[in-house]
Order: sequence, then structure tokens, then C-alpha cells
Amino acid sequence: MRSLPLPSGATMPVLGQGTWGMGERTKQRSQEIDALKFGIDLGMTLIDTAEMYGEGGAEEVVAEAIKGQRSRLFLVSKVYPHNATRRGTIQACDRSLKRLKTDYLDLYLLHWRGSVPLSETFEALLELRQSGKIRDFGVSNFDQDDLVEARQFDHNLTATDQVLYNLSRRGIEWDVLPWCRQQGIPVMAYSPIEQGRLLKNKALGAISRLNVTPAQVAISWLLHQENVVVIPKSSRRDRIQENYAALDITLSQADLAALDEAFPPPARSQPLEML
Ligand code: NDP
Repeated sequence: MRSLPLPSGATMPVLGQGTWGMGERTKQRSQEIDALKFGIDLGMTLIDTAEMYGEGGAEEVVAEAIKGQRSRLFLVSKVYPHNATRRGTIQACDRSLKRLKTDYLDLYLLHWRGSVPLSETFEALLELRQSGKIRDFGVSNFDQDDLVEARQFDHNLTATDQVLYNLSRRGIEWDVLPWCRQQGIPVMAYSPIEQGRLLKNKALGAISRLNVTPAQVAISWLLHQENVVVIPKSSRRDRIQENYAALDITLSQADLAALDEAFPPPARSQPLEML
């Protein structure tokens, strides 16, 4: 799979698996583990999780799915803003590592900006990086001004901004995305199919051709954007297979123009949207 370089020199695959909503219901657990394993076998070795998802439950599901495969994986987790103090970040990371049954994360993100000063969080992230518990760190739900502010503390090492980005949420194309491109920082697009809501869009349906589904068009469109990593979530094998196959779809200039018409790019700056 194609991958994108991070400022540290490491690389991140362009298509991975989300885990929000996993680890919440015992009945679903084996299906979730099976789905993640299936995706890894296909080649979706980037797994995105967070201490927030299922209050640690998603990380435990991931631990089951990745058994014996750690070296193939690119594991991402996130610290809650209220835990993101100097000591709290390190403790939260230790808890995530324990739940994930691993001794390092490939990428550790501040989930969104809270009230803890960024200087404290970045001190902790730099320490975690130095101790080898994380290979890289980054942020999530940061608008451009937050990213610029973070630059004071991050030693130019912020590896990504994980933000809401899909056909119906293109606001970041005005500022966050160009800024990240200019800095050489990949953007991770979360909720690529708007948690399923995008699939009901008639315009998307019209562009989907024989053998190409609306979900594949939405994911493929993101994969056509420069410097973007996409992390759809599914607990079903058939949908994981479908989403994975988006890697092989090429949208024509006419398709891209039709999508621009149905989902226009931003005409002005707008506040960053979050889910
Ligand atoms: P997605 O846009 O990935 O949509 C997930 C939903 O769509 C699930 O309900 C899934 O159901 C369904 N789905 C998946 N594939 C298909 C398909 N091919 N056809 C029909 N339905 C499908 O939304 P998420 O919000 O989960 O975003 C992806 C990931 O991004 C998250 O899981 C999380 O890891 C991350 N994220 C990060 C945030 C942040 O603040 N940093 C915020 C939100 C998400 P089913 O499982 O039943 O298939």
C-alpha cells in the first residue's frame, strides 16, 4: 500500500481502520476482533484507536486482533484532553500500552484541544518519544491557528492532524490542509463516509458506477487528495473488503468535477468542524 512520510522519516499507510464504537458491547466483541483481523490480513495495517473509545474497551479489542502481528502494524492511539497534563499524558499512554499489550505506539495524538497548556502536553509527548514508548506524536481536531501555536512547542515534530474530512466536510481545504501540505504533515481524514450518512446522498449515488459503491467513491475521493490518510471504520468483513477495494479505484477528471459540483469546496475560511 502507498504510504506518506512523516517529519521523523517514518511512514504511514494511506488507508487504515478506525475503531470508534468498538469495545462497547460484549456481544459484538468477537465480530469486532474478526473484522480488524480481516482488515489486517488484507493489508490495512494502520489501526486508529483512542483511550476514549469504549473507555479503553476499543484498545482491548485491538489487542486481541493484533496478537502476534505487532511488527506489521502502524498503531495510533489518543490521549483525552483532560488527561493531557505533563504527568497525565505519560500515565495515559502507559495505560493505553497496557490495554493494547504492546510496548510502543507508532503515533500518539492529543484527541482535541482542552484547557491544559499545549506546552505541558508537548513536553510529555517529547519525553514519551525519547523513551521509545511512542515513535511519533501528533494532534487531532486542531484548526490552523492551533497548529501554528503548537509549532512553538513541538520541535517541528508534529506528525499529523487528524480531522473530520469527507466530501460533505471540505472546510479544511481552505486552510488546515494547505498548511499541513506546506509543512510536510499528512492529514488523517476521520469519518470518511460521515458515519454512513454520506451514503444516502443522491449525488454520490449518481456518480457511483456499476461495481463501484458510494462508500468506495467517498473513500477513493479522499485517497485522490494529496497528503491524506483515510481511516474508515467497519465491524463487517464485507464492508471492510469493499472499503479496501477503494484503493484500486481511479476517479476520472469528469468524476472529480461532478463531485466538486455536488460537494463544492469551501469558498471562504470556516471554523473546523468536529464529530
Ligand atoms: P466512518 O465514516 O468511518 O463510518 C463508520 C460507520 O459506517 C459505521 O457505522 C460502519 O458500520 C459504517 N460503514 C463502514 N463502511 C461501510 C460501507 N462500506 N457501507 C456502509 N456502511 C459502512 O465514521 P467514524 O466516525 O467511525 O470514523 C472513522 C474512524 O475515525 C473512527 O472509527 C475513529 O477511529 C476515527 N475518528 C476520530 C475522531 C477524532 O476526533 N479524532 C472522531 C471520529 C472518528 P459497521 O461497523 O456496522 O460496518
